[in-house]
Amino acid sequence: MISVTREHVIAAAHRLYDYDGRCERLHGHNYRIALTLDAPGLDPLGMVADFTVIKKALFAALDEEWDHRTLLYVKDPLCAQLAAILDDGSIRPVPFNPTAENMAAWLGETFFPAVMRRAGMDARVRPAAVRVHETDGSCALWSRD
Ligand SMILES: [Zn+2]
Repeated sequence: MISVTREHVIAAAHRLYDYDGRCERLHGHNYRIALTLDAPGLDPLGMVADFTVIKKALFAALDEEWDHRTLLYVKDPLCAQLAAILDDGSIRPVPFNPTAENMAAWLGETFFPAVMRRAGMDARVRPAAVRVHETDGSCALWSRD
């Protein structure tokens, strides 16, 4: 197995639902997201996946989904309230409390595989890990195995 990793930064707001602490307040991060793709072998060019394709297909889709948006758990009452006021796509309801851990798992298990299928990427190439940094010193890591 061989892998490649590319990083990307998005800005997004969130708050943690049913949480006692500062993170229950709406606030934002410059999330640094590192995606690792692996494959059992290289393609004829000697690549797992083209870094340009990762940027232009996968991270462009991530930008469209989350960049400069507010991620709120669908069960958070603020989610429906803000979505009713802001009908410009600012609010992104997510099916989980938007912790870095849940974000990493959803990106690795659901979002990136779907985008890769739509982009027609080689089916032997799969997400192996997603790291979501909320700050320079704090990150969550999802890994496939
Ligand atoms: Zn936060």
